[in-house]
Amino acid sequence: MKIYDIAIIGGGPGGLYAHYYAHQNKLSSILIEANNELGGQPTILFPIKAIHDYPGWESIQASELMNDFIKKADLPDVVLNTSVNKIEQADGCYQLVTNKEPIYAKFVIIATGGGFFKFNKIDGIESDKIHYVVKDINLYKDKKVIIAGGGDAALDWAAEILKRHLTNDLSIVHRRDQFRACRTKVSCLKEYEYKTYLNKSSKVIADGKLEIIDKVTNEKEVLPFDYLIVQYGQSYSLQDNQMLKPFNLDLQNRIKVDAKCRTNMGNIYAIGNVASYNDKPRLIHVAVSDAKKAIDDILNHE
Ligand SMILES: Cc1cc2nc3c(=O)[nH]c(=O)nc-3n(C[C@H](O)[C@H](O)[C@H](O)COP(=O)(O)OP(=O)(O)OC[C@H]3O[C@@H](n4cnc5c(N)ncnc54)[C@H](O)[C@@H]3O)c2cc1C
Repeated sequence: MKIYDIAIIGGGPGGLYAHYYAHQNKLSSILIEANNELGGQPTILFPIKAIHDYPGWESIQASELMNDFIKKADLPDVVLNTSVNKIEQADGCYQLVTNKEPIYAKFVIIATGGGFFKFNKIDGIESDKIHYVVKDINLYKDKKVIIAGGGDAALDWAAEILKRHLTNDLSIVHRRDQFRACRTKVSCLKEYEYKTYLNKSSKVIADGKLEIIDKVTNEKEVLPFDYLIVQYGQSYSLQDNQMLKPFNLDLQNRIKVDAKCRTNMGNIYAIGNVASYNDKPRLIHVAVSDAKKAIDDILNHE
């Protein structure tokens, strides 16, 4: 059985940088990601958003920045589709219980962010025309596009599409009688032409066909679409995660750490969004800095 120096749980910015920096320092590490791709929130939730607060860049698209992280962490021992469910003491090391084979390591770095998340789905049938993430906004050029949802993310995408004049056939369908997004986002859309369907429940009844039902009158309508962008938010697995049970958690179920990102469990660190300390900003470069602190502390044990 192989015992790594470090097992890093989570392949977002924090975990990716930890894997890279461990190898730079000649430590053997394994990076474990529950998803089928690396990159964490920036890759999955906002790949085409411009990031303005990453040091060294005036502005960079999230996916481009993450591709850089992924390239740097393109090292042996990266496993995808592998979710860590529990960390147990083993003989002189830790055993990580996963949905696959167990993994053994002397040190563990938890970089699980808000937890493994799944997109909240729209009712009805699935199809390639339904997008939960916008990966290429130009796909919507001159197409019939529906956005389902009324929060910030839904209105952000509506604004991006309208600002770029990609289509003049955009509709927003929302289940409430008014948008949940902040007022500035709603007023940003005022200068553009688009259709709004409020107070409607929605279901995809066929490829390219969304049925909407008015919640007051029960009136049905079928809206055809080339693309349907669903922005119903995400569900996180963090709350019911067995893995977090032995740790001191804050009120948001994040792991409390000290200035070196050490948890209350010996040789286990938490970094990035999952780690909690006073006034912590939840940003990419902070996850990177946490990773460095944890690895530097591990090096001091060696
Ligand atoms: C809409 C939005 C916009 C943002 N904009 C910015 C911005 O402009 N600038 C900025 O600096 N920050 C921004 N952020 C914050 C930034 O995305 C986070 O601070 C950063 O992603 C945290 O990195 P992380 O590595 O801690 O966690 P994450 O990015 O959340 O990555 C955690 C990874 O761990 C995996 N994982 C979880 N549980 C397990 C498990 N049990 N086993 C295996 N793998 C697991 C997840 O699948 C995920 O890939 C934004 C966040 C959001 C939601």
